[in-house]
Amino acid sequence: MTNNTVNKGVLIVFTGASGVGKGTVMKKILAADPNNWLSVSMTTRAPRAGEVAGVDYNYISVEEFKSMMAEDAFLESACYCKNYYGSPKAPVEENLKNGKNVFLEIEVQGFEQVRELYPDCLSIFLLPPSIEVLEQRLRGRGTEKEEVIQDRLNTALREISRSNEYKYNVVNDDIDRAVEEILNIVKNERAK
Ligand code: 5GP
Repeated sequence: MTNNTVNKGVLIVFTGASGVGKGTVMKKILAADPNNWLSVSMTTRAPRAGEVAGVDYNYISVEEFKSMMAEDAFLESACYCKNYYGSPKAPVEENLKNGKNVFLEIEVQGFEQVRELYPDCLSIFLLPPSIEVLEQRLRGRGTEKEEVIQDRLNTALREISRSNEYKYNVVNDDIDRAVEEILNIVKNERAK
């Protein structure tokens, strides 16, 4: 008998407070397996030094963002620290169809929307080893003003208090160890 099971991809919501090291962990996850694919979000925030348009984000105006909202082009979207962010729907659906492990690196409001649409999605929250370490990392980045840092820190604390809503919590105490743990979680999910 032929096996008609379609090898559909896994949708993974990957959340972590600002400054927790999500970006670095994500890069290593992508490098580990070509089957891992990261959705590139649209944002209205200005690019940070070193960020590349089309790789880190697609940078658009508030007007463009609103018109995409009106066209129902987002799988999910959120306003975070006064900027808009959204995951374009079409590429996510396409990559899931093609059997990829589709990562959405999004915050908690976005997760709420995704779990309504995909109740079986895999959700991973990346925690800092401590709040002190998180604050140090946020300041150490040196890219944001004090007011923005405070806003991000308060948002981070609120987000961390909701980490129990995620299927897995991973502590970023050591980057390579955290990456390994996440790769194993995804591997086990695919094997189900
Ligand atoms: P940052 O400005 O530091 O790059 O991102 C701020 C927060 O927005 C982070 O928690 C990041 O994961 C989240 N984020 C990035 N893209 C999206 C998106 O498309 N949707 C949602 N809901 N959050 C996003």
